[in-house]
Amino acid sequence: MVYSNPANSTSQCTINEAIHYVGIGLHSGHNVSMTLYPAAPNTGICFLRRDVDPEHMLIRASWKNVVDTRLCTVLGNEHGITVSTVEHLLAALCGCGVDNLLIEINGDEVPILDGSCAPLIDMINQAGVVGQRLARSGIWIERPIEIRQGERYAILLPSEVPRITVSIEFENAAIGMQSLSVDMVDRVFETEIAPARTFGFADELHQLREQGLALGGSMRNAVLLDNDRVVNEEGLRFADEFARHKVLDCLGDLALAGAPIFGHLYTHKPGHRLNNALLREMFAHGDAWSRLSYEQINQRIDTPQSTDKSWINASS
Ligand SMILES: [Zn+2]
Repeated sequence: MVYSNPANSTSQCTINEAIHYVGIGLHSGHNVSMTLYPAAPNTGICFLRRDVDPEHMLIRASWKNVVDTRLCTVLGNEHGITVSTVEHLLAALCGCGVDNLLIEINGDEVPILDGSCAPLIDMINQAGVVGQRLARSGIWIERPIEIRQGERYAILLPSEVPRITVSIEFENAAIGMQSLSVDMVDRVFETEIAPARTFGFADELHQLREQGLALGGSMRNAVLLDNDRVVNEEGLRFADEFARHKVLDCLGDLALAGAPIFGHLYTHKPGHRLNNALLREMFAHGDAWSRLSYEQINQRIDTPQSTDKSWINASS
């Protein structure tokens, strides 16, 4: 069955047919070829590096395998094989309700495309998303989980609706302070978040390139800021495109939990390191969350729980 809204499906989903594309890596500047293949239930999302020894090529998309978070999220396996800039692809898969997928790639970085999820969403929708014979499960947040890194923080709160609230603060006047709260329901991700592009600063670009980074970066795949000005001729896709892109990054990083999270992510100045630290904190505290089937989750949403709300006072 092809779902019009697979994110609501109570069974696991994969894509209906393979998707192939070629594109440049944001940091490596290399052209990379990728093919996404349907995968069996309970496979999860797995990368296969086709350019290395087949015995070492498998890298599972899991929070446990995050090996670097400085400019993007990098996954690695026990053989030291890595794949970087995975967050936008993972956000698109999570937003489209894809649970199981094999991703063949012949390089170490996922193509950046236009810097957003929009082209990925189009390709996934074109291929179609199909239900599978095993039940899907989600992670239900039972009590708040919090991580702080200086002035940055990320809190996961119990919520019946998967929700992300982000605030950002940049000295750059083109960004300034922006905040946004989004319920990840229906097609909100696809229409409101997926088109938001990544961004970079002209004065940092030179420095990054000297370090061999951002070699594939251009105005075709990022919003470029020079002092307080957006350089891209086409301008912004949303007035708050920067905050929306942060929501996209958060969704992609949290997808590394391995199942959709039914909770409210409330975060200030989020980043890849903070997002991964939050997942590590969550998995270190088994009492803070429950793994439930979507049927159990639907029951909880229909029947208000008489849960202990003492955390409301405790955390204020
Ligand atoms: Zn991003």
